[in-house]
Amino acid sequence: MSSPLDSLLNLSGVTVEGHSQVEGYICIQLKILAHEIVCPHCSKPTQELHQVRSILVRDLPTFGQPVYLRVPRRQFYCRNCQKYVTQQLDFLSRRRRYTQRYESYIYQRVLMSNITQVSREEDLTADEVEGIGDKLRLYASCQGDLRRCLKEKLVRTSLLFRKRCDN
Ligand SMILES: [Zn+2]
Repeated sequence: MSSPLDSLLNLSGVTVEGHSQVEGYICIQLKILAHEIVCPHCSKPTQELHQVRSILVRDLPTFGQPVYLRVPRRQFYCRNCQKYVTQQLDFLSRRRRYTQRYESYIYQRVLMSNITQVSREEDLTADEVEGIGDKLRLYASCQGDLRRCLKEKLVRTSLLFRKRCDN
């Protein structure tokens, strides 16, 4: 099953199940198309769905209005490893509340103006905007070994980003 809105949304692996408008926000309900995932520990497929919990994720604005996606976070059980595995989605980084394209959009906007202005216009806290900037700078510079990079660069990167954006 697909929706005519899928091509507009332009995110792979999901379909639009419905949408609503709440207090000036557009909320889009997504459904994940795949029935199984590949276990990251043993590389075997599993269809055993353990639980589904929806999360709200900020996405790019549309028609001049902020957009939130309601994304099902699905946890599967792998019998082979006897482990629970949360499905990772291409457009969403681990434990993030924004789509990757929204993070890029915020980052670009901060580079053109400043944190205070972007946080006001997007209704985000300054800490949230700063967190997005820190993360993207790290991804651009660490070439894969994010864990080590985080230790070495987080403090320095954060300071650089703040200095650049407050001037
Ligand atoms: Zn497994």
